[in-house]
Amino acid sequence: MTKYVFVTGGVTSSLGKGIISASLAKLLQSRGYRVTIQKLDPYINIDPGTLNPYEHGECYVTEDGAETDLDLGHYERFLNVPTSQANNVTTGRIYQNVINKERRGDYLGKTVQVVPHITDEIKANIQRLGDTGEYDIVITELGGTVGDIESLPYIEAVRQFRWEHGSTNTLVIHLTLLPYLAAAGELKTKPTQHSVKMLMEYGVHPDILVCRTEHRMTPDLRKKIALFCNVNVNAVIESADASTIYDVPLLMLKEQLDRIVLTKLKLPIKDEPNLDSWKEFLGKLKNPTSEVKIGLVGKYVELPDAYKSICESFIHAGAKNECKVNLQYIHSEHINAENVAEKLGGLDGVLVAPGFGNRGIEGKIDAIKYVRENNIPFFGICLGMQCAVIEFARNVLGLSDAHSLEMNPDTPYPVINLMEEQKQITNMGGTMRLGAYPCEIKKGTKAFSAYGKSRITERHRHRYEFNNDYLQQYNDAGMITSGINPDSGLVEIIELKNHPYFVGGQFHPELKSTVANPHPLFVKFVDAAKTYHYENNPKKSK
Ligand code: GLN
Repeated sequence: MTKYVFVTGGVTSSLGKGIISASLAKLLQSRGYRVTIQKLDPYINIDPGTLNPYEHGECYVTEDGAETDLDLGHYERFLNVPTSQANNVTTGRIYQNVINKERRGDYLGKTVQVVPHITDEIKANIQRLGDTGEYDIVITELGGTVGDIESLPYIEAVRQFRWEHGSTNTLVIHLTLLPYLAAAGELKTKPTQHSVKMLMEYGVHPDILVCRTEHRMTPDLRKKIALFCNVNVNAVIESADASTIYDVPLLMLKEQLDRIVLTKLKLPIKDEPNLDSWKEFLGKLKNPTSEVKIGLVGKYVELPDAYKSICESFIHAGAKNECKVNLQYIHSEHINAENVAEKLGGLDGVLVAPGFGNRGIEGKIDAIKYVRENNIPFFGICLGMQCAVIEFARNVLGLSDAHSLEMNPDTPYPVINLMEEQKQITNMGGTMRLGAYPCEIKKGTKAFSAYGKSRITERHRHRYEFNNDYLQQYNDAGMITSGINPDSGLVEIIELKNHPYFVGGQFHPELKSTVANPHPLFVKFVDAAKTYHYENNPKKSK
């Protein structure tokens, strides 16, 4: 029988519910339990696919093509188990389902209300993961903060769910903040008390409190919180700031979060968690033998969450290479032909990021021209790959004004074309080419040396594609189309023959990089940056 853990947040947002959920899941998984994590988001968008990255950071895409919250990326990176549409549900989707049922007449003339219809739909979406029979434990993270108007139906759904399933089959963890008042020299517990009180007013009593704090908690403080919030002292967990998110599972292990959860759920505490490979990863991450500087050229650089998965992929690939990757964010709008050498000087590699629309596009193209001509390792992702194709057309094939139809519908050389199946689409939400598609890699290419095999699948999120009318011209001039979709013929990977490392992918490799499986294209790219660094700084050790 599946057990359910709910993670709520109090006092403020950004306390790291996603990382705590993923860390707990990691510990339970390493004790042999089958675990998945679900995120319920209280906003009204059907999914984050239509959201500007400045709103909530990147949109994470699952194997089955769901556009989801970036926390699902953490779940996959920690657990190395794929998630799906069922792992992320928004208020918009809940209401859409209920309204569709109402239109079908499913409610048989009843008045459709938040309670019970919306709460029933929320509960059904929680239970759906448990009903697959694939998991011993489902962890459901509630987005938002207790007390928000839009979170109310979720808290009510949790209350009902607990009542229906019983207290040994469900558990609530409340994540809260202990602010430190420097003037008083103290950690303050009052916001936590108020937040728990509010949760209890809604009928939900937390079993475990995870307290985010910048200072150590004394035993007395733990006792005080336990007494006033009505939880066991050992269920008051300290969550101190960590130097990396990947330390958090070990910090939670020390606090025995997993043991307390298993005890409360009346599940056997099997063998000690096997975290050997996790610790090996951390060891490499913290003891690099080399260092590189890589530029991330994009237009959302003011908000690093917009590139969360790329950033994490560099952490995985860096550890694999025992190399510290210093990521430098460079705004593509600030790059032009005159300053490009100065902007990119001193970098050992450049990644041009995914994106949509015209803003900053010429800066990306200038950056690519510079790294191509100067043999600096390059990695282009989705729009970054498309920009590499455009740059090559303009500056090598001599097709001036070549462009993507997305940026210039009147270009004489549409080297990046709108996909056939996209031409009739008018709705923006959920209509891109999304999710996993196969790709066949040509032997003897850089892509093949990275993957070590010819058949792969990667995740996608785009409307435009390499225009195959120009395929021959590109291949003849040295830009190889090294990865092709075997079913549609769509170009998936391009690379340059005469360049130490110049690779672009139409897909998003960053969505598949995990601690257990760093993505091969990131691993190779960091390796190329290391070689570049060594060759250009020969006195320093490799
Ligand atoms: N805007 C481009 C397209 O739709 C690239 C998308 C992306 O980078 N994810 O094809």
